[in-house]
Amino acid sequence: MKNLPRVLVVEDEPAIAELVSVNLRHNGFQPVWAEDGVAAQRELDAVLPDVILLDWMLPGQSGLALARKWRGDARTRGVPILMLTARGDEPDKVAGLDAGADDYITKPFSTQELLARIRAVLRRRAPEQASDSVTVGELALDPATHRVTWRGAALKIGPTEFKLLHYLMRHPERVHSRSQLLDKVWGDHVFIEERTVDVHVKRLREALGGAGAMIETVRGAGYRLAAPAFAVGAAS
Ligand code: CA
Repeated sequence: MKNLPRVLVVEDEPAIAELVSVNLRHNGFQPVWAEDGVAAQRELDAVLPDVILLDWMLPGQSGLALARKWRGDARTRGVPILMLTARGDEPDKVAGLDAGADDYITKPFSTQELLARIRAVLRRRAPEQASDSVTVGELALDPATHRVTWRGAALKIGPTEFKLLHYLMRHPERVHSRSQLLDKVWGDHVFIEERTVDVHVKRLREALGGAGAMIETVRGAGYRLAAPAFAVGAAS
């Protein structure tokens, strides 16, 4: 088989899993079905997928718990997670993003919407891989190794936060509105709410620890990465 993007579908309802798998296969993806967290973990241990499609309601460990676990695991940390949630469960969506999901999609969803979301999370990772490393103050980011360091110490950072930080670091001191960030970082933002930006900024600040304060909220305007005046420099 050619090098088709591999999608791990974690879904306990066979009818939905089958429908999703058929659609993925017809659109150039390679779906792998796991009916629960145990089966999914077995798949992840064997081959890392390009993206995980994760149902919220699962027997055994919930999708939320799994997202948190995989985000905390060095092996699976970089794999984007697209969460499937029930209709109208707004707190669930935010909780899912907090747990480490990159995006969510509400059931029932159309095939086109699902494919667009999967392509969007895959695209988000692609452009950052070829570019140069960048340094702002004592914060350094290397897209080639996907590594972020603060005062020389490596930081754990999720794929969407990495992309967001990369963008902010390439444009320090400038204020970016939420819709600008969606446009530049998420790219295909037609399905994503502006509040999603806030969730990822919060996670980014937490991941940055001591450097988190560099990301400033500009009331009524958006966000800015403040470069310490004494040490601005770009390694690129
Ligand atoms: Ca389910």
